[in-house]
Amino acid sequence: MSIIYLDNNATTRVDEKVAETMMPYFCENYGNPSSIYDLAHKANTAVRKSRETIKDFLGAKDAKEIIFTSCGSESANMAIKGTLELAPHKKHIITTKVEHPCVLNLYKDLEKKGYKADYIGVDSNGDLDVNELLSKVDKDTAIVSVMYANNETGAIFPVEEIAQKVKEINPDTKIFVDAVQAAGKIPINVKDTKIDFMGISAHKFHGPKGIGALYIKSGTMVSPLIVGGHQEKGKRAGTENVPYIVGMARAAELATENMEDELTRVKKLRDTLEEGILTKIKNARLNSTAKNRVPNTTNIGFLYIEGELILLHLNDEGICASSGSACTSGSLEPSHVLRAMGVPFTSLHGSIRFSLSRYTTENEIIQVIQTLPHIINKLAKISPFQKELGEILGC
Ligand code: PLP
Repeated sequence: MSIIYLDNNATTRVDEKVAETMMPYFCENYGNPSSIYDLAHKANTAVRKSRETIKDFLGAKDAKEIIFTSCGSESANMAIKGTLELAPHKKHIITTKVEHPCVLNLYKDLEKKGYKADYIGVDSNGDLDVNELLSKVDKDTAIVSVMYANNETGAIFPVEEIAQKVKEINPDTKIFVDAVQAAGKIPINVKDTKIDFMGISAHKFHGPKGIGALYIKSGTMVSPLIVGGHQEKGKRAGTENVPYIVGMARAAELATENMEDELTRVKKLRDTLEEGILTKIKNARLNSTAKNRVPNTTNIGFLYIEGELILLHLNDEGICASSGSACTSGSLEPSHVLRAMGVPFTSLHGSIRFSLSRYTTENEIIQVIQTLPHIINKLAKISPFQKELGEILGC
């Protein structure tokens, strides 16, 4: 059975061209970039070129603004903890209710250490309440952490506007943008913004797992998370992961090639999927209709049906999707993102995220649209909510 992979916000398949680019850096050009002989020079050059590529990918001004990390979570931790350590007198921090756990759980930890945290809400479409966020900024606010695109709904937050307005209120407040779900899905141009930090992760754009980057605006100070050698200009110790750095850079190049056409194609497929499901399945509801959404993501609630059961039946048909962020699936806790949006209890437990990629084909989408109604019909028959479902389905 062939696999239809619609869980690209959890992780993506590594592009073969990326894997090919990485290979020589395992057994041939394996030198330590800090050493002085030719073999090391090759690795050093590869890291330097990769830094330039990631600079261009994020639209940064200078390659020196790019630090390689191990993942998106490390980038977030470095920006937030590294900022707070340099401003010990400031005890106020702001984020949103719908961030990835790498930010939310860090904020919860910081609260235990005496920080006052404000968590900004979203409306029923998944759009952020920017005015509420701005109303919370004061002279004690050390950092504002806002994601660029939400991993569960695809909602894009106006991070450039937020950065600009926060700085007008307090120019010393630092801005961290978690761009893990935006990188490769929408063009990014960080240099013309007031954003201080931006984190990305290669495995979300067809690069390898275990490598990420943090943009740090020139002149912005940050305390290192990992202390040791002088790598990454003393900001992040540890011998550079050369094959993975090279792989992330190649993935960034490939994501940028034909980006506009590819995103239009993916959006069309996503819209076809949404329309197909909503027309054929009477108890299906679109969870996010945010003003702007990344083109690959949709989140659909199936009233009175258990999401985990839908996923298991999809899996039997070779279709991979998700009922929340990968880190929370498997737990019976409903998604914190959908709860923040006020998604009603009736579809909260039956919500499925489909996330497409450049490998997704029209045939696959047609197959999902044909398969899903049978699954939902089957599960409707065993749902404890027969009366409610009967009213919606007209049976
Ligand atoms: N931020 C967002 C929005 C994500 O979706 C994820 C991963 O799902 C992360 C951060 C964490 O990235 P990583 O798995 O590279 O640590």
